[in-house]
Amino acid sequence: MEYFDTRDYDLAGRIGKLRTKHGIIETPYLFPVIDPIRQQPSLETIRSLGFNGIITNAYLFYRRNKGLPKKIHNSLKWNNTIMTDSGGYQVLIYGDVEVDNKTIVEYEKEIGTDIAVILDIPTGTKMSWEEARQALFETNKRAVEALPYIMDSDQLWVFPVQGSPYKDLLLISTSTAWRLPYHINAFGSPTVLLEKYEYDKILDLVGFARLHLPPHKPLHVFGVGHPMIIPFLVALGGDLFDSASYILYARDNRYMTETGTKKLEELHYLPCNCPVCSKYTVKELLEMPRKKRVEYLALHNLYMLRREINNVKQAIKEGRLWEYLEYKSKSHPTLRKAFEIVKKYARYLEKYNPETKGTTHALLLIDKDSHHNPRLIRIKRKVYDMLSNKKPENILLIPAYKKPYNQQIEYVEAKRKYPEYTILFYHPYLGVFPPQLANTYPYFQHEVGIIDEEVITKASKEILQAINKLRPKKIIIVQPVEEKYYLLTHKIIKWLRTKTTYTLDVLSFRT
Ligand SMILES: [Zn+2]
Repeated sequence: MEYFDTRDYDLAGRIGKLRTKHGIIETPYLFPVIDPIRQQPSLETIRSLGFNGIITNAYLFYRRNKGLPKKIHNSLKWNNTIMTDSGGYQVLIYGDVEVDNKTIVEYEKEIGTDIAVILDIPTGTKMSWEEARQALFETNKRAVEALPYIMDSDQLWVFPVQGSPYKDLLLISTSTAWRLPYHINAFGSPTVLLEKYEYDKILDLVGFARLHLPPHKPLHVFGVGHPMIIPFLVALGGDLFDSASYILYARDNRYMTETGTKKLEELHYLPCNCPVCSKYTVKELLEMPRKKRVEYLALHNLYMLRREINNVKQAIKEGRLWEYLEYKSKSHPTLRKAFEIVKKYARYLEKYNPETKGTTHALLLIDKDSHHNPRLIRIKRKVYDMLSNKKPENILLIPAYKKPYNQQIEYVEAKRKYPEYTILFYHPYLGVFPPQLANTYPYFQHEVGIIDEEVITKASKEILQAINKLRPKKIIIVQPVEEKYYLLTHKIIKWLRTKTTYTLDVLSFRT
């Protein structure tokens, strides 16, 4: 049986099942980072929140047990999936660790972890190109060195992709990933960028790496645990995440929200209805003993993370990840920039987006960004191809403003009076389309949001382009009976008048 199956797709995001020795992890998934020595909140609590996989540090476990290979599931009293990081993070922070790659790899085998990472040299973000190149080659060397030890194991092994922020180096790492039989690829720690909220840079690197990695293997992104960035990473193909942020933030009185992190002291109200926030007020939380407060804040933060993962999964199921990101991008400038990166990769993301969904939900056409929705682009491209094959000589253009469009008075009248014309609808988001599509998806199943100057300009350009391709001899354009879309019609008429390769009539059925 395959260890990783994917079922639902949207953009480059997918819902998948990762099989480990201790159960199935449904992806996208975030592994809470566990401290093997002093964990708070307890693992039972973490499990009760719906997390069935945790990550801890094999190097810390090794040090704590003085190298004795204790079974990690017994030791932590956790029967579900355990992933262990190798100590690479400690390398990043402290420069080095006192064990070598082989020792850690063998140790991870002996303690029986489900998902294991080799001892890599994270390139972080502060290294020079030369330093990063060396770290990358050393990591690749270790990945090869570990192969004889891990080939016979029933564990899932992780290949850490290094080289960021240098894309030429990332390419070397990603091509190595194709050659080595690791189960999971992991994007090396972008923690520094994360702390500075430079989400766009992280996303650009992850998107770039994803583009060059084997798509059938899961991609783990190390150290990313904020509800703000997770949906964007998922859209670019991130499957697995891990983070200690829930507890690190809690120790610093920081409270996660969908759109950022707030100091507890800054809050007057708790904008959440998790069990913690439903039960306590800000004042009560601030006044309780520190240990208790940290525990409660950590719980709230975990709830936030779980909720975000669930929201993203639901969006994938409904085929509305793009709309979800669009909505998120309006809530914070840094997410606005993050969305630009997703747009940059939209063409490639489209390849991950299968043709049909099990259920079709209305397409949300919110504002100018919706023009970039890969689903919409793909549908329109098909329609335009179909139209240019037909090349109608006489076309009659009607603004589509009221569903069902083929019952609008303009259409009914035009069909009766101009049978020799090919009727086409035009729409600020849906572009040009024939009446036969008026009752199909998404020409019927969509909701329109803002129609402003930007939307109209973008739409009229596209509509003009589509019409010009048809090279008609005669054009009739109908003014809408209702005021809606009047500006769009006006703009199109203005532009149509600048060309003389056809005759143009403007018609009104107003009574
Ligand atoms: Zn809460």
